[in-house]
Amino acid sequence: MKAAVSYEYNQPIEVVDIQIGDVGPWDIRVQVKATGLCHSDVAVQTGALPFPLPMILGHEGAGVVLEVGSEVTQAHVGDHVVLSALIHCGVCDNCVKGRPNLCLWGLSTIFSGKNPDGTLRARDAEGREIHQFASIGTLAEELICSEKHAVPIDKEVPFAAACLTGCGVLTGMSAVLNRARVEAGKSVVVIGCGGVGLNVIQTAAMANAGRVLAIDLHEDKLAMAREFGATHTVQSGPGVDIPAQVRALTGGMGADYVFEVVGVPEVVRQGWDSLCVDGTLVAIGVHPSTAEITLPAADISSTEKTLMACLYGTSRPTKDIPLAIALYQQGRLKLDELITHRFALEDINEAVEKMHAGHDARGVVVF
Ligand SMILES: [Zn+2]
Ligand SMILES: [Zn+2]
Repeated sequence: MKAAVSYEYNQPIEVVDIQIGDVGPWDIRVQVKATGLCHSDVAVQTGALPFPLPMILGHEGAGVVLEVGSEVTQAHVGDHVVLSALIHCGVCDNCVKGRPNLCLWGLSTIFSGKNPDGTLRARDAEGREIHQFASIGTLAEELICSEKHAVPIDKEVPFAAACLTGCGVLTGMSAVLNRARVEAGKSVVVIGCGGVGLNVIQTAAMANAGRVLAIDLHEDKLAMAREFGATHTVQSGPGVDIPAQVRALTGGMGADYVFEVVGVPEVVRQGWDSLCVDGTLVAIGVHPSTAEITLPAADISSTEKTLMACLYGTSRPTKDIPLAIALYQQGRLKLDELITHRFALEDINEAVEKMHAGHDARGVVVF
């Protein structure tokens, strides 16, 4: 079966034949039906996220459970599932206090790209062992992963829409509901209107934010932002003073919340400078592992601004993926509209180029 593998940093992704072996006792085998392409996949390819290679990319998938291991209790053959990039143990301090996104066992597992039992399951035709991004690697026709990744969904939900709840939707929605807990009437600024930012926008609108200001380099993304609930938009670019623009739209005060969804330290700083006194910056963007962020020290002693780091939206996948699906089925959360481009697995490198061009909300592979 085919999978999209990154063998070397900054080289094209290769679509190769792989074998995935047998399911272990706590594993499931999944036929992937759809998977979204996320910036983090490209960050693995470029080495910005230092994951071990070779690696099957993809961490935002949905599909059908084909086989379950002897000890599997939650997943069943035939289930339609979204595969969460996060897994958690359920018993550590972070899990017990309701922060499964910070489960150290889960994070160390998914960053290893290995099955939780410590083994690599996939091999290519030359017999090379291959990692799976987030221990799933959804840019593959089939995969074996721990049952802990599988979140069952209603069989009525189209896979292409469902897969988006595995990363981008989950992150954007949960950042608003779980991390910032945006209060009705407050002003929200979203910098970066891609697959995550658009979900911050639509969830902030759903949470009755007083105004939602969307900022992006590309006018087509801003047009989407308006469809997703932005009340105001600003096109960024060289010479655009974002904090000044935000102050102009907030009566000179600055925003109550700024969501940074780009992953560039200078943009974090622009977001910080766009806050009102007592405002909150929610930093969602994934930064290169060696980057540093500089903030004005005087603000620490004079503004009571808050910088909130936000990992994977502070989401609880087993609770929030079903929530996103339910909101979609009620017509309150847009998923189909996020898909700007469908492509075949073989065209993965073109899809990456399209992502770099910055016009896609989400490109989705449909198998
Ligand atoms: Zn992602
Ligand atoms: Zn845990």
